[in-house]
Amino acid sequence: MSIQVIGANKRYGDFAALDDVSIDIPDGQLTSLLGPSGSGKSTLLRAIAGLDTLDSGTVRINDNDVSQKSPQKRDIGFVFQHYAAFKHLTVRDNIAFGLKIRKRPKKEVDAKVDELLEVVGLAVFQHRFPAQLSGGQRQRMALARALAVDPKVLLLDEPFGALDAKVRDDLRRWLRRLHEEVHVTTVLVTHDQQEALDVSDRIAILNKGRIEQVGTPDDLYDRPANEFVASFLGSTV
Ligand code: ADP
Ligand code: MG
Repeated sequence: MSIQVIGANKRYGDFAALDDVSIDIPDGQLTSLLGPSGSGKSTLLRAIAGLDTLDSGTVRINDNDVSQKSPQKRDIGFVFQHYAAFKHLTVRDNIAFGLKIRKRPKKEVDAKVDELLEVVGLAVFQHRFPAQLSGGQRQRMALARALAVDPKVLLLDEPFGALDAKVRDDLRRWLRRLHEEVHVTTVLVTHDQQEALDVSDRIAILNKGRIEQVGTPDDLYDRPANEFVASFLGSTV
């Protein structure tokens, strides 16, 4: 599924969190929204998800205008920065949750959950509770839960932010491999240059509510459009 944001504006009082933002997010790719804290990354992601309404502008998913649709009607999976695990449910039941509330047949739920437990490498931990997992394992569980309902789009807001460096590196590599397997259109919000350069097909650089440049990691690093992009990525103009 492709996503287009066209002319998005979002103000908080006098402050423009999004200032006429337009971006094309291609089908099947992993696109990162990269920028310093406060640059509007989460606001843009929330607008795509339908969690925030824009003051003006349009969000299209697969050429359908979804600007007026609720998050549920957009068929999007979310993984936000804080683990949203159900503490009293096992790993297996956490992953199954979205399928059960959609009243899918038990056989289908079981098969899907078995498949995802393998994909995220948590089959041996399926009967544990979230508190008995490491941070990285919990984050993989959160991703499996989002993937369970076959989202058209996966939206990740700083999903590895709270983890230590070693686990974060492992998860980045793992996300890249996962993405190569499932190819779901993915939008990753991060303030971490290395993370964006490592995992993305394309990167959009945000600064003060505007998009400075969009391109492949190589494009941006080798041919930064301006001083901001160059200094933010640590390359030279
Ligand atoms: P990022 O995710 O890039 O760190 P955000 O999109 O969360 O940035 O926020 C962009 C700007 O909008 C920030 O300066 C933030 O303080 C402001 N902002 C975000 N949400 C609100 C809100 N609900 N009320 C007031 N200001 C907000
Ligand atoms: Mg944010």
